[in-house]
Amino acid sequence: MSEATPQQVSAIPQERLVATEIPGPRSQELHARRQAVVPPGVHSVLPVYIERAHDSILVDVDGNQIIDVCGGIGVTTIGHTDDAVVAAATEQLNKVTHTLFTMTPYEPYVQVAEHLAKHVPGSTEAAPYKTLLMNSGAEAVENGVKIARKFTGRPGVAVLEHAYHGRTMLTSSMNHKGAPYAMGYGPRAGDIYRAPNSYPLHDGLSGAEAAARTIAHLEKTAGAEDLACLVVEPIQGEGGFIVPADGYLPALAEWCKANGIVFIADEVQAGMARSGSVFSIEQFGVQPDIVLSAKGIAGGLPLAGITGRAEIMDKSMPGGLGGTFGGNPVSCAAAVAVFEQIEEQGLLGEAKRIEATFGGGLRELQAKHPVIAEVRGKGAMLAIELTKPGTLEPDAALTDRVIAEAAKRGVLLLGTGIYNQGIRFLPSLKMSDELIEDVLTVIDESLTAAGA
Ligand code: PMP
Repeated sequence: MSEATPQQVSAIPQERLVATEIPGPRSQELHARRQAVVPPGVHSVLPVYIERAHDSILVDVDGNQIIDVCGGIGVTTIGHTDDAVVAAATEQLNKVTHTLFTMTPYEPYVQVAEHLAKHVPGSTEAAPYKTLLMNSGAEAVENGVKIARKFTGRPGVAVLEHAYHGRTMLTSSMNHKGAPYAMGYGPRAGDIYRAPNSYPLHDGLSGAEAAARTIAHLEKTAGAEDLACLVVEPIQGEGGFIVPADGYLPALAEWCKANGIVFIADEVQAGMARSGSVFSIEQFGVQPDIVLSAKGIAGGLPLAGITGRAEIMDKSMPGGLGGTFGGNPVSCAAAVAVFEQIEEQGLLGEAKRIEATFGGGLRELQAKHPVIAEVRGKGAMLAIELTKPGTLEPDAALTDRVIAEAAKRGVLLLGTGIYNQGIRFLPSLKMSDELIEDVLTVIDESLTAAGA
């Protein structure tokens, strides 16, 4: 495998190039080797082995240049191998790579906490929210629940239908889908209560009606006084990029406040500028008690944040929170570079540009392909729902065929929804309009080739 310097990686042309069949011969060879030593439970959507990447382009081991419209599922929000992220991480790598923050601390951790405090709605300079850093989205959820339980002294965890929160023992029990996440791995965690969500395309309810349904369900099944927290993805990610009806989230937040329930916004997928605001919950007019971030926070390095009101975060005793690698200095340095890019390069505006160009293009495709029941999302977090024409019946097989056709053409797409009822788009905020145009052409061709 050839070595690529940062300069060479930056020089990857931002264009699609299909050099071999996809997966190509070298990828197929690697895949055979991998199957001997990696279990099938670790599934790869597209077994194409990537050698280099920059911004929106993945270069595979066969020389194909694939347009990445998934960003490692919402991680490379400011693009692959972003120059500033690579420079910051490299510099930190040469200074100190690990001490363990809970042994001897370092500044980048504090800087990340300061950036988060600046951006979480509800946090103020006078009373900033405080942050614990961990490694992954699931760890963020685990810790959010743990902190809420400690604060309230209550056991119950409320979640919504269509939710996804991770693959650890607690979080896999919080997901809507039993298979493949929890089935056979039991016993599942207890005291989890799942309530109907707001899914405007399917339930036709206003935000107030959907919230009343959610609240009635939770009061009946859990009892508000037994609930430590309600964990909500403001825009549901794995569940299908479901944007709740207006007023739904504020009504839930109000009910939580009135009943002493900690409102936790799981922004692992929707956060970090993707939706057009640093945290998507801001666009719904809610001040959450705790916000969870991961994925895009460190430009591709593992890092997760649990950011909450000081009175909640301060309840844990010294030593009660943390973990060996939580808030690794290299990841923190990368995260600081990500925040600086968001703040200094107008990336929130770029998310809005993508909503207009990509979203507009998807709407044009909807007019042409009646299988697209809905185009939805915010900023650079967009999806199409695919149904059998004239019905709201999910068409999972069509979703798979469209994704396969796009892959053959050098565009990496990803399905979404508990019924695999659509395709989600998580492009880099720096993806050019020309590249977006090319992606839309491929989606159009792929829908046609898939028989839509
Ligand atoms: N919460 C949400 C909303 C997510 O989308 C994900 C990952 N898809 C997670 C939690 C879990 O994150 P991780 O895979 O980093 O554990």
